[in-house]
Amino acid sequence: MEKISVVVPCFNEEEAIPVYYQEMCRVMKKMPDVRFEMIFVDDGSSDQTLKILKELNQKDQRCRYLSFSRNFGKEAAIYAGLKNSEGDYVATMDVDLQDPPDMLPEMYRILTEEDYDNVATKRSTRDGEPKIRSFLSELFYKFVNRISKTEIVSGARDFRLMSRKMVDAVLEMSEYNRFSKGIFEWVGFRTKWLEFKNVERCAGETKWSMRKLFFYSLEGITGFSVAPLSLASIIGILFFLFSIAMIVFIIIRTVIWGDPVDGWPSLVCIIFLVSGVQLFCTGIVGEYLSKTYLETKNRPIFILKDSSETGNGSRYEE
Ligand code: UDP
Ligand code: MG
Repeated sequence: MEKISVVVPCFNEEEAIPVYYQEMCRVMKKMPDVRFEMIFVDDGSSDQTLKILKELNQKDQRCRYLSFSRNFGKEAAIYAGLKNSEGDYVATMDVDLQDPPDMLPEMYRILTEEDYDNVATKRSTRDGEPKIRSFLSELFYKFVNRISKTEIVSGARDFRLMSRKMVDAVLEMSEYNRFSKGIFEWVGFRTKWLEFKNVERCAGETKWSMRKLFFYSLEGITGFSVAPLSLASIIGILFFLFSIAMIVFIIIRTVIWGDPVDGWPSLVCIIFLVSGVQLFCTGIVGEYLSKTYLETKNRPIFILKDSSETGNGSRYEE
């Protein structure tokens, strides 16, 4: 019998987990010819999440859990889940039911009957999201897809079902700065996209602030494109050509009309402009340097303090 592992990152989700579990039980009943395991990854929650996960694990052997020593972020949680998964197929999904579990049977059917290694999902609408957030997201996707060879699909969710082959490929990418939307595309394989309408989260609230999203988008840009690094050279060349033209112009003008000393304000403006551009370019280089720095340290992507396999980790209880 084939096995599906479902990786579920949870960060302060005490309200959502029981609802999610109910839903999953319903869906798993509909798929009697598959075995399931659910790997809940507690991403350093400060609420009752871990306690609830332990109870679930006691009650239902299909529910495993991993618990991080602190909040490492959703990307790390997904990586940890994939790494610990045993199934022939692995799904990743949110616990807030924004990724409808009802799609799982269809996704599984596609992987087994059609020639695909990956079924991914995207939202067909962004209903229920603040307008400004949708606008900025669209802008980000347009920009990143222009400068990156890896296609980052707009509206793509982290809800997917992958074959073991693909999971192993994703695990090969053990980079510290993880941007899964890019990683899943980068590894290739044939992907089928399913669309669904945006669903509001069932309980609790979103963990993504605008600030977090901004830094996450930088991750996407620096992680999958080095085009910004060329920007400095391009701007440099443009400025160089422009100043040659200016020099020629000024020499000719001086020869013909003499050289009255004025133009202090324009000079100051030019100095500000050029130093601004220089700082901007240095900043871009710095952005990549900082990523390189973090990668070379080779720090672990996550640290476990407890899991369903290490005997309930009672020594970590307060
Ligand atoms: N999540 C996580 N670590 C974090 C932030 C979020 O594991 O640092 C989990 C969260 O528990 C949820 C999923 O990632 O299962 C998606 O988070 P959320 O619903 O807040 O994001 P949104 O759906 O608004 O994009
Ligand atoms: Mg959500």
